[in-house]
Amino acid sequence: MRILVVEDEDKIAAFIKKGLEEEGYAVDMVGDGETAIDYALSADYDVIILDIMLPGNDGFAVCREIRARGSSAPVLMLTARDAVDDRVQGLDAGADDYLVKPFAFRELVARVRALLRRPREVVPSRLKVGDLALDVRTHAAERGGRKIVLTAREYALLEFLMRNKNQVLTRTQIAEHVWDYDFLSESNIVDVYIRYLRVKVDADFEPKLIQTVRGAGYKISDQA
Ligand code: CA
Repeated sequence: MRILVVEDEDKIAAFIKKGLEEEGYAVDMVGDGETAIDYALSADYDVIILDIMLPGNDGFAVCREIRARGSSAPVLMLTARDAVDDRVQGLDAGADDYLVKPFAFRELVARVRALLRRPREVVPSRLKVGDLALDVRTHAAERGGRKIVLTAREYALLEFLMRNKNQVLTRTQIAEHVWDYDFLSESNIVDVYIRYLRVKVDADFEPKLIQTVRGAGYKISDQA
C-alpha cells in the first residue's frame, strides 16, 4: 500500500513517514500544495495524508483540486485545531476523514487502516443531470445557467432524485428519504412536491428531466 504524506513541518513529516514505513507502507513525502497535487494525480495512492496548513495551496485547496481532477484516493486531513469549521470545510472539500493534531501515532495508523478498508467512491459536491446542476453545499440550483430558487423541501426532494439519477424511485422510497414520519400520512405529498419541482425545473426547459414511470414512481434523467 502506497501513501502520500503532505506536510511542511519536517519533524512531523519525518515522524509520520518513519512510523508508516515501520508498518510496511510505501511512503512518499511532499511539503507544499502544488507538489502535492502533482504527486496525487500522477500515482494511484491508496491513502493521502494531507495537512491543512501548507505553504501555497492549503490542504482544502489541494483536496478540492485533486477531486475535481478525478482522484478518488482516500484523504485523511490533519487539522491543527479541533475546530468544527475546519472539519466541515475539509469534508466538503472531499476529505474522507480527519485527525486533530497532536495525535497519537496509533490513531493515525488505525484511521489509515480504516480508510484502506473502504470501497472507493467520490461523493461529488455538485450533482448534475443534463444541464441541471445542484450544489449540495450551498443548495444552489441552476438549469441552463439560470438560477432556480427552491424551498428546503423541494431541495431535499431534488437532491434525492439527483443522487439516484436514472433510477426509478417509488413514492414510498422518496417519502421515506425526504419526509419525516409526521408527513408520511399525507399520501399524495410526493406527487404534490414533484409538481412544484416540475414547475421550477422543467416547465421552461427541454428536455423534461423529471419523468413519471407509470405504476412505479419517478426518476430524474436526461435520457428518454
Ligand atoms: Ca503544516
